[in-house]
Amino acid sequence: MKNSLISETRDDCRFCTISNKISRRPFDHVISESKNYFAIASLGGFVNGWTLICTKDHRLNLREDYRSPEFKDFTQRVADTVGKVFGKSVFFEHGANLAGSATGCGTEHAHLHVVPYSHDFVEDTQRFDLTKSWSKSLLNVDEGEEYLLMANDLTSLFAQPTWHAVNFAESQFFRRALAHHTAQVQCYDYRASPGEANAQATAEILSSQMALTVEVQG
Ligand SMILES: [Zn+2]
Ligand SMILES: [Zn+2]
Repeated sequence: MKNSLISETRDDCRFCTISNKISRRPFDHVISESKNYFAIASLGGFVNGWTLICTKDHRLNLREDYRSPEFKDFTQRVADTVGKVFGKSVFFEHGANLAGSATGCGTEHAHLHVVPYSHDFVEDTQRFDLTKSWSKSLLNVDEGEEYLLMANDLTSLFAQPTWHAVNFAESQFFRRALAHHTAQVQCYDYRASPGEANAQATAEILSSQMALTVEVQG
């Protein structure tokens, strides 16, 4: 099964409509983009500054992207800006590998979560669910396998992330963990708590901040 490398966009995918600039909804505003990636505010982001880095192509996970210098540079730029405005961020991915898989978080389009969080997210999350076994190394799963991946900082994200090969698919795992850590258990389901106004505010602040950075560099 080679689902993770479908290289095209799809009309029925929300992230593809954003990537193709078809969506006009204010919370779908693209904060910044590179050749193959773009950043948006997370819908259902119950932490201020919660941002997603998405691939422009429609594919299911970022398994191959962790080796891409462009992905690393773009993630660094976005995380720097989120950090400046909202505080230090942590990173996680629901590595789905099958259309319709429960491992994802409601969208089947590859994305990395960038979330301001001042504690040890990796440790808090491991403690949240003691039934899971985690590895701390470069992601090493077979092509058809699903995974959960997290890191407290950018260096470990690209060199030594903490990941779990999924044997029992469950929806929105990291969202549930984060809702638990931040005592907002009622918010974990983004369908029930979309928080459009919050997402729009995050998008506006970050895009103006990133535009400023580009101007200064230019
Ligand atoms: Zn898509
Ligand atoms: Zn997700």
